[in-house]
Amino acid sequence: MDWIRLTKSGKDLTGLKGRLIEVTEEELKKHNKKDDCWICIRGFVYNVSPYMEYHPGGEDELMRAAGSDGTDLFNQVHRWVNYESMLKECLVGRMAVKPAVPKECDEEKRALNGMFPKTQVAHTLAEEGLNSPSYDWFQTDSLVTIVIYTKQKDISLDSVIVDHQDDSFRAEAIIKDHSYFIHVGLSHEVEETFSVRVVENVGKIEIVLKKKGNTLWKCLGLPLEKHNVLIPKKDTGLYFRKCQLVSKEDVTHDTKLFCLMLPPSTHLQVPIGQHVYLKVTITGTEIVKPYTPVSSSLLSEFKEPVLPNNKYIYFLIKIYPAGLLTPELDHLQIGDFVSVSGPEGNFKKSKLQELEDLFLVAAGTGFTPMVKILNYALSNVPSLRKLKLLFFNKTEDDIIWRNQLEKLALKDKRFDVEYILSAPTSAWNGKHGQISPAVLSEFLKRSLENSRVLLCICGPTPFTEQGITLLHDLYFSKDEIHSFTA
Ligand code: FAD
Ligand code: NAP
Repeated sequence: MDWIRLTKSGKDLTGLKGRLIEVTEEELKKHNKKDDCWICIRGFVYNVSPYMEYHPGGEDELMRAAGSDGTDLFNQVHRWVNYESMLKECLVGRMAVKPAVPKECDEEKRALNGMFPKTQVAHTLAEEGLNSPSYDWFQTDSLVTIVIYTKQKDISLDSVIVDHQDDSFRAEAIIKDHSYFIHVGLSHEVEETFSVRVVENVGKIEIVLKKKGNTLWKCLGLPLEKHNVLIPKKDTGLYFRKCQLVSKEDVTHDTKLFCLMLPPSTHLQVPIGQHVYLKVTITGTEIVKPYTPVSSSLLSEFKEPVLPNNKYIYFLIKIYPAGLLTPELDHLQIGDFVSVSGPEGNFKKSKLQELEDLFLVAAGTGFTPMVKILNYALSNVPSLRKLKLLFFNKTEDDIIWRNQLEKLALKDKRFDVEYILSAPTSAWNGKHGQISPAVLSEFLKRSLENSRVLLCICGPTPFTEQGITLLHDLYFSKDEIHSFTA
């Protein structure tokens, strides 16, 4: 606390009156005394003299790195310590980049253990109010940690996709509408599994790989295509990994729940309301279509993934006997492989924050994006008063997870479901018809006149388009409607 008070006192702790400078190795070496002690950690130089008396490990421990690169020492002793924040006021500047680059490790244009100063697209980013991301890596005897500094606060585990195949290591950090890539052929072998950690408040991503041997790595590896670049999401293209079918269950007469297992060397979590693409080769032609991952059930409480690698992806897929791709998916055997892309879509979980009323309008498999939204809202949005699902289908037999929906309505008083059938049997005594002003105005009533509301709509394109027009007529503003379309 004393140290924190000192850092907040406004005192000039670096002696540079707030200026940040580029530090050469020669300059760093000069600051090697207790009352003038600079240390480099992961490419940044700190004046730690004012911190000496507060360091829990004592002054001598700090002096071991005086005037030099203390990264390795720091990593051995306490690499999880959030030194960036602790020593913020002591920051002198960055290490100057050395002009000489070892040929066999071209990507390592760094002095000491420092970082790249710029990515290729810094100027584009500045225009969009984004900072340019960068990466760094460090090692212990048994681990290699790759750190991505996104410099954005809204980063979570589902903003990171990692694929490691043979010696190729690929990491994608999704930063707003861009993706930042690390893509290298690793210089040494690592174990198949790894862990991913995100420090959300500083936008730092750490990927920890386990070395196969205890070799000291001289460099991370050789850069491959799209390495250390930031690309607008729309230009990144789809990247697929092979996932194994582990189960396939009937849900209705034509819809099935598929469970796919990600490879152990992949970290991928599909954000709520987003879809992926499935790729299957049919008679030599690759067929790619979008599908929206769902939770395994409506009744399990929705939890933010706590495990670093969320290994299973579930899909509710309607099989069209005369369709191109779905009969092929239907014929897959347990153990077969399907290629799965990274996530796409523009729904943001933040839209659900502080909501009071949530209306979901779905037709047929248009229910799929609603599943995770529904689960998430009921478990994680404390302000929510009312959640209503308006579910359009042809017949009773077509209603996906009807049993679960009804159990959920009994379990949670905030939730209510209404079915509207376009081709019911004579035994049906519920609502009958199609999407219309009468149906929408009857069921979509705010709990309070000015309640904070979101309405999500998804189904066949003409259904969704018609719905949006009708909803505007019913006084839902543009910001209050989210439509899922292709
Ligand atoms: P298709 O070959 O596209 O055929 C579909 C139907 O149309 C069949 O009945 C076929 O006989 C008929 N048809 C095809 N061509 C013609 C024609 N020329 N004239 C008349 N009829 C024709 N679906 C899901 O089940 N689950 C999901 O989670 C899901 N998520 C999606 C997410 C997004 C963002 C989008 C855009 C769609 C999603 N879909 C989902 C739909 C999915 O992408 C496919 O469109 C669907 O599975 C049909 O694929 P198919 O190749 O089997 O059928
Ligand atoms: P379906 O069984 O054919 O129809 C479900 C309900 O929607 C029925 O009541 C049907 O009424 C009604 N409907 C269909 N077309 C309509 C139209 N043009 N106008 C008004 N109502 C209409 O539906 P499905 O086979 O499951 O198809 C679901 C659709 O959702 C697919 O097109 C799929 O691509 C889309 N989808 C999109 C996403 C996404 O994120 N964008 C995600 C999942 C699914 P009728 O009996 O009168 O036709």
